Amino acid sequence: MKGYDPVKRALKLRETMITPDGKVLLAGFAGTEQAKDMTAHTRIADDFFRAKVYTKAGERTINPFKREPASIAAQKLTFSDAQKNILVKRKECNAAFLGQINGCNLNCWQCYVDKANKSGNPKYGRYFSAEEYLINFLVWSKRTQNSQNPEEKLNVLRISGGEVFIVPEFIFQMIEAVEKFGLQDYIYIWVDCNLATGDFYWKFLTEEQRKKISGYKNIGFCVCYKGMDEDNLFEITGANPNYFMSQFILHRGLIYEGLDVYSYFYPLTADTNGLYERLAGFMELLVDNVDSYAPLRLAMPETKVYGPTQKNLTPGRRKALENQWEAMRLWQEELLGQYSLKELSMLPHEFPARTLI
Ligand code: SF4
Repeated sequence: MKGYDPVKRALKLRETMITPDGKVLLAGFAGTEQAKDMTAHTRIADDFFRAKVYTKAGERTINPFKREPASIAAQKLTFSDAQKNILVKRKECNAAFLGQINGCNLNCWQCYVDKANKSGNPKYGRYFSAEEYLINFLVWSKRTQNSQNPEEKLNVLRISGGEVFIVPEFIFQMIEAVEKFGLQDYIYIWVDCNLATGDFYWKFLTEEQRKKISGYKNIGFCVCYKGMDEDNLFEITGANPNYFMSQFILHRGLIYEGLDVYSYFYPLTADTNGLYERLAGFMELLVDNVDSYAPLRLAMPETKVYGPTQKNLTPGRRKALENQWEAMRLWQEELLGQYSLKELSMLPHEFPARTLI
């Protein structure tokens, strides 16, 4: 068989990524290549958590998704105004606090995470319960709230990886922890997903737990496509190309659960033959298999070369990094052909995740 089976890999990784009492293995940053890519400003909290700032002061971007999930959180989050005894909207939601779950079932060449921190090996991390994760967030959030620099204020709790959906129980546990402290109106939870775990979300969560997640109002999911077609999935991840369509099935499945799902795609290919047609085909698959607005809720950000990426570079991959700009341009061209200017001027969260009820 060409390529590995990501679901089999995920099952194996699960054995060490989660304990019987639901603690998950978080990657430690000390001594990693990834740590060298961080600034003192972003590497925080005992080497197991970091901050991610979305839009820096004065920064302009043509990609509206860059402000996600900050712009979503700013729309939804509230805080108490004790004097007026009301809840008002929070304006500063530009920085997320995140831990990386140690264990990933894919092997993307452009990955910014060190191999050890995706291995599920307990030597490279520490187990945390959702409540412990939340407490770390609260401590660091409190420390940043009075900062004059709005970039530093942490109001978004992101659960990242590695791959979160190998241990989806953690999402449910985080919501329970947030509700236990009565903080559901104050914290926006952002969850990443690599779309390569098949039915794990349904297999490892009960219907009741899934209902709880769907019913939580301050949560968003960001799924990441790993290929515009079968060959590209193999080129980027080395996984069996047969898993290409399962990305769309999982994306749609999450939307049909009632979740607020956004997506990313990093368009990396060394082969530019028929690139426009390949991208147009990918857009068509999104429309046909996920939702008519799915392409407008998808971001195509730049792939940057970080320390761990550097080690994987080959002449073909360098070419793919150069080609990404042309791919982004062609994607925009296809969007212009498929959607109105009014639709294209809207932000991703202004479209429903699911058009047809
Ligand atoms: S899915 Fe994400 S964490 Fe896993 S290898 Fe790919 S880029 Fe890295």
